[in-house]
Amino acid sequence: MNLTFFNTMDRKREEFQPLVPGRAGMYTCGPTVYNYAHIGNFRAYMFEDLLRRTLEFFGYRVTQVMNLTDVDDKTIRDSQRAGIPLKEFTAKYIKAFFEDLKTLNIEPAEHYPAATEHIPEMIELIRKLMERGIAYQAEDRSVYFSIDRFPDYGKLARIDRSNQLSGVRIRNDEYAKDAVADFALWKAWDEADGAVGWDSPWGRGRPGWHIECSAMSMKYLGDAFDLHTGGIDNMFPHHEDEIAQSESVTGKKWVNYWLHCDHLMVNGEKMSKSLGNFFTLRDLLEKGYRGREIRLVLLSAHYRKKLNFTFEALDQARETLRRFDDFRRRLQELGPEGSATAGEQALLDKFRAEFADGLADDLNISAALAAFHEAQRMLNKHMESGELTRGGAAAALVLFRDFDRVLGYLEMDAAAEAPVPPEVTELVAARQAARRAKNYAEADRCRDALKALGYVVEDIPGGGCRVKLR
Ligand code: AMP
Ligand code: ZN
Repeated sequence: MNLTFFNTMDRKREEFQPLVPGRAGMYTCGPTVYNYAHIGNFRAYMFEDLLRRTLEFFGYRVTQVMNLTDVDDKTIRDSQRAGIPLKEFTAKYIKAFFEDLKTLNIEPAEHYPAATEHIPEMIELIRKLMERGIAYQAEDRSVYFSIDRFPDYGKLARIDRSNQLSGVRIRNDEYAKDAVADFALWKAWDEADGAVGWDSPWGRGRPGWHIECSAMSMKYLGDAFDLHTGGIDNMFPHHEDEIAQSESVTGKKWVNYWLHCDHLMVNGEKMSKSLGNFFTLRDLLEKGYRGREIRLVLLSAHYRKKLNFTFEALDQARETLRRFDDFRRRLQELGPEGSATAGEQALLDKFRAEFADGLADDLNISAALAAFHEAQRMLNKHMESGELTRGGAAAALVLFRDFDRVLGYLEMDAAAEAPVPPEVTELVAARQAARRAKNYAEADRCRDALKALGYVVEDIPGGGCRVKLR
């Protein structure tokens, strides 16, 4: 089955064709680490996690790069307000960010490059742009990108070039469409920067925000890669400027698919730091909500639609998960074992296919969730009428575990709380005894039997082992 994504560049759905068969290279604009990320930010990271897990579900090997913006206008401003050196200031929020990713069960990216550790790569890109006459150093000693020199400027955000203010410069990292102008690649040091600065061929200074992403994406993913993602507010100027810089250096198409998610809203307004209408993940945990409930809510709407955040939605998520945990416990109590009947297997396969079809259709989570809920409803019915066989229950557990490879909230927490069934404990003990007796055939048989029950066993140094749900 083929995956299709809505490509913001072309404003239409396109079949996903990776540069290298079976692999997907993906760049995700990561957090600016000047504060705790709010759940609006996490809607974007959650959408990217859904994309990543969907690619994996369809068998792709994903290389994801998520940068950490640990130097920009905002990090410098706030570290100075706090009177703490930049590195120390951002370290606190980087640590918090990784804790939050864990709480939300967001799969880790392969690389998390920090901007301050890639200054030479940024200088090198700017040097190339200078060499080609695309960048210039202005009277204020900063280096700017000349948008006149990149005829494709505006192709992503669809900017009307007749309004373009060529030769006019803008030093801020963020600006509106009607302020289109030459943007800063390298910002000359000034007093407001305090101790922050690096030497460069153009004097002491620091990189602009946009060049950070061009340099770090190309370092880890190459001159051209498959997917670039972010929130819709990143499209302009950030992604537009990234394209201008990168394609001016390479002379070729940089990214094949641009995917942007819409906003998390509160009472009709975008959740944002500047409006003050935000909740951090920590705020919600303090109110007693759990990571899996927040995860469910953030995944509940299609990524290209606005999602209104409410506490009722969190309460509803709690109830949905409580019912699911209960349902799964009853499946387990049936003593799942052996194979499903042909009729049961056909039904489960139908739900699996509907779930996959939904995801393949531009991550249509509503269709995927409809398959999930219908599967739960039907199986519940079959359990209540006493029709579901033990083999059917075993196959149903495998189905829900498959769904959870993408959803990521079914097994969370509950898995840690669920008692390990006695037959699992017995098999583990039997396997340990067989290993001690060097009876490896028997040990393997126990391992396979555990696998059939949905458990994996991992050996740990010192001769012990632990089991966990597959
Ligand atoms: P920032 O740290 O401000 O660069 O934002 C990090 C990510 O969060 C970017 O991809 C933004 O587009 C995204 N973002 C910010 N606010 C929201 C929101 N309310 N809903 C969805 N995504 C958001
Ligand atoms: Zn970026």
